[in-house]
Amino acid sequence: MILEIVQYGHPALRQPGRRVEAVNDEIRQLAADMIETMHQAEGIGLAAPQVGRALQLFVLDLSAVKDRPSTLEINGQPTDPASVMPLVLVNPEITLLGPPAAGAEGCLSFPEVYGEIVRPEGVEVKALNPQGEPVAFRCGGLLSRAVQHEYDHLRGVLFIDRMTDHVRQQLQPELDRLMAETRARLGRAR
Ligand code: ZN
Repeated sequence: MILEIVQYGHPALRQPGRRVEAVNDEIRQLAADMIETMHQAEGIGLAAPQVGRALQLFVLDLSAVKDRPSTLEINGQPTDPASVMPLVLVNPEITLLGPPAAGAEGCLSFPEVYGEIVRPEGVEVKALNPQGEPVAFRCGGLLSRAVQHEYDHLRGVLFIDRMTDHVRQQLQPELDRLMAETRARLGRAR
């Protein structure tokens, strides 16, 4: 089922996600719906708060991206990132690794807004998979960037919060327009 992705200005994006207490059929269905929604929107990541669910859960699928490399290590073994896509992570914990790296980012809650963001190059991840089993891996490149972006969503942090003032100021007219649109839509729905 395709879910509605809320846009910038919607309060759900600022609400931190609760830990998932039980990885059950309801959570697996939510993850499947989020993957379907992400694919339809041609995104590479989607977090539960973006579909109005304040839960610590996000999905990723970078398999369509050919021009921005990712690295993945599971138990110290280099692994093809494509082999784990789509990726569902529940209650993720991350440790940031490596020097800062700049890269372009977009967000399904900010249509047509792109900006450069500096984040640590790598990340170590511990989470539960959709079967409720613990998973752990280390990643770099675009996959690391996507994990950090989605992890931020689970804490109510948005990519515009991580832009330099200079980058954000350039996007401000678009951000103001998007927020006004969202507020108008919410007003009509009331
Ligand atoms: Zn996002």
